[in-house]
Amino acid sequence: MDFTPETAAFRADYRKNKVGRIYSGPGHFAFTAGASLAVIVFCVLRLDNVQPLEWLTIPLAFFYSNLSEYLGHRFVMHKKRPGLGLVYERHTRQHHRFFTENEMALEQGRDYFAVLFPPVLIVFFLGAFFLPAYFLIAWLLSANVALLFVATGVAYFLNYELFHFAWHAKEGSWIHRVPGLKAMGELHRRHHRPGLMAKANFNITYPISDWLFGTLDLKDRKPDA
Ligand SMILES: [Zn+2]
Ligand SMILES: [Zn+2]
Repeated sequence: MDFTPETAAFRADYRKNKVGRIYSGPGHFAFTAGASLAVIVFCVLRLDNVQPLEWLTIPLAFFYSNLSEYLGHRFVMHKKRPGLGLVYERHTRQHHRFFTENEMALEQGRDYFAVLFPPVLIVFFLGAFFLPAYFLIAWLLSANVALLFVATGVAYFLNYELFHFAWHAKEGSWIHRVPGLKAMGELHRRHHRPGLMAKANFNITYPISDWLFGTLDLKDRKPDA
C-alpha cells in the first residue's frame, strides 16, 4: 500500500514518540480480550435462576451500548469537551491521522496502539462505570439484571474492539471477504474520510443509532460490498 507523505511521516513519528518502547501489540490485544472475557465469564457463572423478564436486560443493554458508542464517538471523540480533551486528541487528532479513508490498514504490531483502547482506560471503565452500575442495578432491580447488564455491556465493548481492529486489518485479510463484515467495514472507511468524520457513521459496530439519528452514510459504497 502507498501512503501519502503526510501519513507516512505521521505514522513514523507516532510509533517513535507515542508508543512505549516495550509496547507489545499482541500483548495489548490479549489484555483487552482476556480482561473482557474474564468479566463476562465471571458474570455468567454467577447468574442464578434467571426469570423470563430478566432476560430482557440483554437487548436493552445492547441498545444502551449502541447508543453510548454513538454519542461518545460523535460528541466526545469528535468534539473537544472540558476535561475530556485527551479523548478528542487521541481519536480525532491521532487515530484519524494515522488512518485515512485510503490508508486504513495496520502495518505492524506497534500500530495496535492506535486502534485499541489503552489498558488503563479499560481498567478505569470497569472500576468507575461497570462496578458502580452493577451495585446500583443489583440494589434497584436484581443481581441477575445487574450481572446481565455488565456481561452484555462488556461483551459489546469487546465486540467493538474486535470490529474496529478488523476494519483496520491489512489488505487481503480474510475479513474483507466476509460479505456482512465487508459492508460494515466500508461504513467505517467512509467515516475516516476527513470531511465526513464529524458528520457520519459514528457507530463502529452495528449502525443502529446512525440510522435512528439520520447520520448513516451509505453513498459510494463499493458495489460488491
Ligand atoms: Zn477507525
Ligand atoms: Zn471517529
